[in-house]
Amino acid sequence: MLAFDFHSPVEKLQLPAFEGKNVHVYVKRDDMIHPFISGNKWRKLKYILQHARGTGSNHLVTFGGAWSNHLIATACAGARFGFSTSAFVRGEAVSNPVLSLCRLFGMELMFVSRDAYKSKTALYHTFSTAHAEKTYFIDEGGRDEKATWGCAEVIDELDQPYDHIFCACGTGTTLAGLSLGVQKKQLATKLHGISVLKNGGFLYGDIAKLISDTSNITLHTDYDFGGYAKSDDVLLSFIRKFCAQTGMLIEPVYTGKLFYAVMDLLAKNHFREGDKVLVIHTGGLTGILGMHDQLTPPITPQP
Ligand SMILES: *Cc1c(COP(=O)(O)O)cnc(C)c1O
Repeated sequence: MLAFDFHSPVEKLQLPAFEGKNVHVYVKRDDMIHPFISGNKWRKLKYILQHARGTGSNHLVTFGGAWSNHLIATACAGARFGFSTSAFVRGEAVSNPVLSLCRLFGMELMFVSRDAYKSKTALYHTFSTAHAEKTYFIDEGGRDEKATWGCAEVIDELDQPYDHIFCACGTGTTLAGLSLGVQKKQLATKLHGISVLKNGGFLYGDIAKLISDTSNITLHTDYDFGGYAKSDDVLLSFIRKFCAQTGMLIEPVYTGKLFYAVMDLLAKNHFREGDKVLVIHTGGLTGILGMHDQLTPPITPQP
């Protein structure tokens, strides 16, 4: 079986801000699934890799930016489950800690211009005809209907019902999968996506392409902090405080915005007395390696 035999734990979050609010906030620690095949990237890859294996493929070819959580997950999962891996990386050749980890896991990196990157199927076709191995195309971020099946399994692992479940949204695939899982079990849970991209309203349309019924989904589009990978002092100081108060790491691109949004909605009394809220920690903590200087400003020399 091509999988990890591991259910991520659910932890109750205790923060001073919850005092006086009768709302119970829990975190599904998908960041603990694996340090590199982390969180939703494993959930999304699971059935894609099973399909790749089923078609007899032995070489995964995928796409991403230079700090992509999907690239490192694919590199590590490929190594772990016996596939070789290659990736087209958007933009000029660079080196950074995430790409170094990808290479350590044996991934071949090919840097392509932003223009060439737009034609993913053309890049894949050229690559695959030049290679004797049986290659398998995995879209950027693991975007695929099969990815929603793995994300739906988050719901199967829960041992109590929740009134609200929150996750961060890039492509919306994870949220679509969670919605699928909730529908399958006929739960009344409301699903909330926090868009990390600017003007994330378009995500409703993208999610509707993956699942037929989106009626249990609400998108929150005012927590993007200026857009993808953008942040400001408010977000960064929230993250610092949160990490120090909980012992749980979050980062500025996805989970920082997610937890900021949940805490803000709580402060604005969005929830009802007694509500149980589950926040999905989708991992991606290697992103901190690219932002450590913003997150923790330089230490000034002692006089
Ligand atoms: C990729 C990623 C997301 C976004 O997932 P989508 O399925 O594209 O919406 C959320 N959180 C983390 C940590 C990620 O790496």
